[in-house]
Amino acid sequence: MEKSKYSSRELKDSRTRHGRQGENKVKEVLNGLLSKGDALLNGLVLKRTDGYYHQIDHVLLKSNGLFCIETKNYAGNIYGKYDDSRWVIHNPYTRNVSNIMNPLRQNYSHLLAIKEVVNNDSYYFDGIVVFTRGELNVFADGVLKIDNLASYINNKKIYPLYTPNDIKYIYEILHTHDLSDKISSEELVNKAKEKINKIKASMTCPRCGAPLVIKAGRRGPFYSCSRYPKCNFSMDLDEDNTYKKR
Ligand SMILES: [Zn+2]
Repeated sequence: MEKSKYSSRELKDSRTRHGRQGENKVKEVLNGLLSKGDALLNGLVLKRTDGYYHQIDHVLLKSNGLFCIETKNYAGNIYGKYDDSRWVIHNPYTRNVSNIMNPLRQNYSHLLAIKEVVNNDSYYFDGIVVFTRGELNVFADGVLKIDNLASYINNKKIYPLYTPNDIKYIYEILHTHDLSDKISSEELVNKAKEKINKIKASMTCPRCGAPLVIKAGRRGPFYSCSRYPKCNFSMDLDEDNTYKKR
């Protein structure tokens, strides 16, 4: 198996310069980890049966583990915990403070999309969120700086190891379902906006159907599911901005 065979076409346009640079840096690290029989898919787009699309930065298939990797390129100091619904980013130069959805939740929804497509419980996918810039003040497993990515992946051990046939099988399923050639980034952004507008218009939680409420956060108000903490759906008031890739 040639490893070059396993780089799916990347999504172009509408992404920011930093976004692309970050993903390319991560791709370079992941390419360096490929051994014979391993596979890497970049910029995978999967559609779930609920009709929502998932744009997944990287899926790495190795004998010692299967990884779903989300790349983040925020600069500044990043603060967050595993179960915080939102993380805070503080830029020490501009003194600007902003907040983002906890990227572990975003990656978790990607993991669900992969699980649905692969549909085989003997394959376990590990979620990783990798930051290419910024200082991490985050207390959560699987959230890493790019410098630690290679050792994190190499140190993963699962038994029994996945065989080249397992990897080929999973790769073929994901590749067959990959819509990145069929849908443009622009369309994906529009679909995400449509979804957000639907949520805003109905004020209904897309996960559990309960009403949404507006709460005060550390940095301005945000939508929250009224069943919190039983359901922890949350969304920025101007969430469509977050779909510009950072
Ligand atoms: Zn809910």
